[in-house]
Amino acid sequence: MSDELESVEDFQLRARSWLAENMPKAGSLPIRKGIDPEEQVWLDARDLQKTLFAGGFAGICFPKEYGGQGLTRPHQAAFNQESADYEMPIVLNVPSLAICSAMLLDMGSEEQKQKYIRGAISGELVLCQFLSEPSGGSDLAGLLTRAQRDGDTYIINGQKCWSTNAFAADFATCLVRTDWDAPKHRGLSMIIVPVHDPATHMQRVQMVNGTREFCEEFFTDLVVPAENLVGVENDGWTVGQRQLFFERQAVGGGSAYTSGMARARGAGHDAITPASLATRMGKNTDSAVRELVGWSHVNDVVNSQIIKRVTIGMTSGEYPAHASSMMRLTGAETNQLRNDVMFEIAGEDAVVANHNDQSVLRESGVAYLMRQAGSLGGGSTEMSRNMISERVLMMPRELAADRDVPFRDVRRGR
Ligand SMILES: Cc1cc2nc3c(=O)[nH]c(=O)nc-3n(C[C@H](O)[C@H](O)[C@H](O)COP(=O)(O)OP(=O)(O)OC[C@H]3O[C@@H](n4cnc5c(N)ncnc54)[C@H](O)[C@@H]3O)c2cc1C
Repeated sequence: MSDELESVEDFQLRARSWLAENMPKAGSLPIRKGIDPEEQVWLDARDLQKTLFAGGFAGICFPKEYGGQGLTRPHQAAFNQESADYEMPIVLNVPSLAICSAMLLDMGSEEQKQKYIRGAISGELVLCQFLSEPSGGSDLAGLLTRAQRDGDTYIINGQKCWSTNAFAADFATCLVRTDWDAPKHRGLSMIIVPVHDPATHMQRVQMVNGTREFCEEFFTDLVVPAENLVGVENDGWTVGQRQLFFERQAVGGGSAYTSGMARARGAGHDAITPASLATRMGKNTDSAVRELVGWSHVNDVVNSQIIKRVTIGMTSGEYPAHASSMMRLTGAETNQLRNDVMFEIAGEDAVVANHNDQSVLRESGVAYLMRQAGSLGGGSTEMSRNMISERVLMMPRELAADRDVPFRDVRRGR
């Protein structure tokens, strides 16, 4: 077979007919009896990913040698367009594919790439992130979970929190401290750990919108093979920075490794927008509502232009990798504004809908409850602003009294 890249037009036509024959239409997946709906999403996603993989449509921008298709962003964009009316394994995008697998592609060993990237693309395994700790997520380099080398293994003790969808994952990229005598950024290591192990106690955390996607994990002498170290021991900050780069890119909407378009699952309708909500509520002729819809739409358009501009700048080398904080920042602000506007349009209907009511009005109320999520996940908005000022605009760095102090001597807590 020729190595020449298939044209986007040919690929799109091929995808169209394959999707029609192989993928279920949006909203047509059967309910699995006796299974928690949050678990069902993951079972369905794994099955859908296996189907995509078998059909040659999984991991479109990942290299072929790790199970991907070796294609380009325009191919991915064409596939997103074609697959919009089908069920897609959206939950596998972040963090499994677009963050953890993307990071491993840059930083992992050949064996790790073959096992974890191929595994994630083929639907055999799911990856998640163990970064944040109760002592603070913004000060990531100040983390306390420790790993001690013992022959061919590491022994891990400590606690992680806010791990999105860890309950449904198989492995996590876990940032730990391996040297307490080095300054905080220089004593860390990134280690791939199994999520479900008798030495790890996991608890799920209910969020304000009722879902339980957040998890926290307590490690007591968790033993992992030393070959699970990503990169070099005590250079985990470099690996973690690369992972955060992909996270900012993914949550900002600029990742090449996400596939499919998010939609209201199983509801049989497109995800609501301010414009569709205004129409559904018969408020689309109200001039005040039209102004709100326009305001949100303009922000959406500007945000998508920022994503394109920053992506081009980072690809060409004009912008440093830290510029991903720009799309992360504007993505969160745009999302927040969209939620605010929908809440405003829905008015009291957004809060009085019955708890079991699946209507768009209730959706806008629940979405409003989660409006802050985007300004914390992937690093807070304040930290993104710090990053842009210090690493993109090269303004003076924030004072850090602990920067060159052995971590053992850094004052912590009270
Ligand atoms: C939807 C979502 C998904 C997440 N998924 C994961 C996940 O999968 N894995 C994972 O490990 N973590 C995850 N997180 C955690 C996330 O990374 C942290 O919430 C984030 O890094 C902030 O850390 P924190 O919550 O501990 O807040 P803190 O670090 O305690 O910060 C509290 C407040 O202080 C501000 N602040 C702190 N330091 C500074 C400073 N130097 N300058 C200015 N302001 C500052 C922050 O901006 C914030 O507003 C997720 C969070 C969310 C909301």
